[in-house]
Amino acid sequence: MQTKTITLVPGRGRLRSRWRRQICTILPILFAFLFFLLVLLSPIQGIWDISDDGLRDSDWELLVSFDDLGHLFVVASVTGAALTFRAVKRSKSPTIETKLCCPCGKVKGTIRAKYEDSERIHCYCTDCRTYNKAIAALGGKGNKPLNHEYGESHLCQFCKSDVTIDEGLEHIKLARKAPNEGMYRYYTDCCHVPLMNTVDFLAFVGVYEDNLDKNHKKFHGPVTVFEQEAEKPFDLPIPQINFPRFLWGLVRYMPWRHAGPFDYGKEPFYWGDNGDESKEKE
Ligand SMILES: [Zn+2]
Ligand SMILES: [Zn+2]
Repeated sequence: MQTKTITLVPGRGRLRSRWRRQICTILPILFAFLFFLLVLLSPIQGIWDISDDGLRDSDWELLVSFDDLGHLFVVASVTGAALTFRAVKRSKSPTIETKLCCPCGKVKGTIRAKYEDSERIHCYCTDCRTYNKAIAALGGKGNKPLNHEYGESHLCQFCKSDVTIDEGLEHIKLARKAPNEGMYRYYTDCCHVPLMNTVDFLAFVGVYEDNLDKNHKKFHGPVTVFEQEAEKPFDLPIPQINFPRFLWGLVRYMPWRHAGPFDYGKEPFYWGDNGDESKEKE
C-alpha cells in the first residue's frame, strides 16, 4: 500500500467548497433547533390521544396557540444566543499544531486544531488499559504499555478532520476488541504502539499524547473519564469531563465523520482475548 496523505481540514482538501463548509455550520444549528422543537411539542402531542374522531379545526388552534409560539420564540432565542456565543468564542480560539511521531519514526503526522475543539482526556477504563498491554505484548522497540501512573491512557481528542498522516500510513493497523465489537483502535506495526481510537459513525478521534510533541499540552484539559476504574484509588485534582461540552463537539463535527486517515475496512487484530500474537494480521 502506498503512503498517502489525506487532509480534510476545513478550508483545505476535499472540504474546501464554501457551500460544503456552510452546510457544516448550518446543519448542527438546525439539529439543535429541531431538538428543542421536539422537546417543546412533545407534551402537546397528547391532544392526538384524546380526539376520537380525528382532528377538528379547534385542535389545530390548540396545536399552534399564542402561548406555544411564545415558548417557541423564547427557546429559539436562547438556543440562537448560545450557538452564536459558542461560534464567536470558537472563532477567537487559537489554532494549535502538534506533530505526531511513533517511537521508531516511521509514522509521522500533524494535528492542527482549535483550542476550543480539543480535549485532553485521561481515560481510566479497563478496556484502554487491556488494549495497551495487548499491543505492547506484540513486541517492538523497547515496548511497554502506554499506561500511566493510575493505569490510565492520555488521549487528546479532536475532530477527525484535524488529523493528517504525512508518512507511514501503511504502518497503521486496525485493532478491535472482538468481531464487530468495541472502538476502532489504530496502532503501528513498525514499533507496536497505540496511535488513536475512534468509531466509524462519529467525528471524534482520541490521539495518544505519548506520540505527540510537547505542544499538545496547550490543548484544552486535562479532564478524566471512568476514574472509578483506575488501578488505584483516584485522588488526583483533575476535573471530570464536561459532558455538555463533549456532546456539543460530537454534534458539531458530525459532517466530518468520514474524514481523516481512517480505514475501517482493514482486517483487525482482536485484542479482546489478551492479544494473542498469532492473531495479528499483516
Ligand atoms: Zn514506529
Ligand atoms: Zn478508555
